[in-house]
Amino acid sequence: MAALHERTDALSWGRVHRFKHALARPAFSDELPLLLSAREDRTVLARGLGRSYGDSGLNENNILIDMRALDHVREFDVVNGVLDVEAGMSLKDILVLCAQKGGAWFLPVTPGTKFVTLGGAIANDVHGKNHHGAGCFGNHVLSLRLLRSDGQMLTCSPKENTDLFRATIGGMGLTGLIVSARMAMKAVPGPWLESEDIRYDNLDDFYNLTAQSLADWEYTVAWVDCLARGAQLGRGIFSRARHVLSTRPAPPRSEPRLALPISFPNFALNRVTLAAFNAFYLRRASRRPARNVVPFENVFYPLDAIGQFNLMYGRRGFYQYQCVIPSGGDRDATRALLAEISDAGVGSFLAVLKTLGDKASPGLMSFPMAGTTLALDFANDGAPTLSLLSRLDAITRAAGGRVYPAKDGRVAAADYQAGYGQWRDFVRFVDPGFSSNFWRRVSQGTAV
Ligand SMILES: Cc1cc2nc3c(=O)[nH]c(=O)nc-3n(C[C@H](O)[C@H](O)[C@H](O)COP(=O)(O)OP(=O)(O)OC[C@H]3O[C@@H](n4cnc5c(N)ncnc54)[C@H](O)[C@@H]3O)c2cc1C
Repeated sequence: MAALHERTDALSWGRVHRFKHALARPAFSDELPLLLSAREDRTVLARGLGRSYGDSGLNENNILIDMRALDHVREFDVVNGVLDVEAGMSLKDILVLCAQKGGAWFLPVTPGTKFVTLGGAIANDVHGKNHHGAGCFGNHVLSLRLLRSDGQMLTCSPKENTDLFRATIGGMGLTGLIVSARMAMKAVPGPWLESEDIRYDNLDDFYNLTAQSLADWEYTVAWVDCLARGAQLGRGIFSRARHVLSTRPAPPRSEPRLALPISFPNFALNRVTLAAFNAFYLRRASRRPARNVVPFENVFYPLDAIGQFNLMYGRRGFYQYQCVIPSGGDRDATRALLAEISDAGVGSFLAVLKTLGDKASPGLMSFPMAGTTLALDFANDGAPTLSLLSRLDAITRAAGGRVYPAKDGRVAAADYQAGYGQWRDFVRFVDPGFSSNFWRRVSQGTAV
């Protein structure tokens, strides 16, 4: 059985929370029942590639099971596009496998990084730039095998152990260990996409471009200049893309080209440098769309070209704020959020706006809902940062929205519970042997 090691270096992507864990790294899935039975009075949480930003993947003074070595392919039916793999496999390796098998299949949904495990993608029911058409990752999971702390291995699917299936998709690792999953992959003509980047002037233009694009473009997203204000509030670059057949040879496999070897000092990112960068970046795109045919990496994973870009915020780390505001009040609330951020004069170059669609996920606790999602980073400057984020929470809550647990490390229990009214139903599916810092914080007020 894999040994437990006391570690303090299991950080999340935001690097704000620094906790002690007992970490195990099993090499084979048959070690998992033993690990669970040997936990004594400690709780357990699975760890994937640590790409969640806050504390949803952390379990202070308790056990983390690093799932990355459990990455074996169980079966790939290339005729029907059904992939059955262990949950520690990364999306990067799934894409490599797809290319090796002829390139006719692709991930049905992908987040903005491929350095995410299958288990992590399911546990946060991740969404991508095609949410308006494809829904969430969980919409494409056919079944999964879940190991509970009592040693039971359960197959969960829309037909079997249905409630537990729904609770596990978006269940933040709290229902047990996802050992493997079967996925319906997406048929594609190859590794190329046609894409357009359009510079736009304000928030209304963002909504107009969205309305013009959703029917014909599978993938849409906007980069937003979070410091713009007044008539320019919400300006940015709208990007849209769709798969296309191209006779070009397959693009070379992309690895991170640039690495940030050290943490940046705190003064490297401030309002002046950010404003200058945003103004420069905006000019990258013109107001008239120019169509390009590009490898999928350019559309889905531009940030992956920079290894460990999270070090850019220095040792203090950073928070990401991601919320969704339901349709109807989303335009006004998004305007209010952006105004609050630009007034504060903080934020980061990495700021994204996206319209989410109304395709329901099977996930009980899934984050997405039809409306607008805003995501951006904030360097951790202590109390002023937390105060700004609380003001954003108030706007989100008043508009009936909610924050994304995968990005969160500080939301108040009352705000979380207001956003996820179904959380009380979810409590009965939480495995008593599992917990996380996030869950202990947001579930205050009930016996867990
Ligand atoms: C650059 C970047 C871009 C991103 N873009 C998006 C995006 O566009 N859309 C989006 O939705 N998210 C996005 N994310 C967030 C990311 O997709 C999620 O946080 C994802 O869950 C991380 O997966 P991971 O393997 O790193 O898991 P971790 O962060 O290690 O863990 C995440 C959660 O999954 C659970 N978990 C992991 N493996 C298992 C398992 N085998 N069984 C049970 N539970 C498990 C953990 O317990 C934890 O609760 C982005 C993150 C980054 C860094």
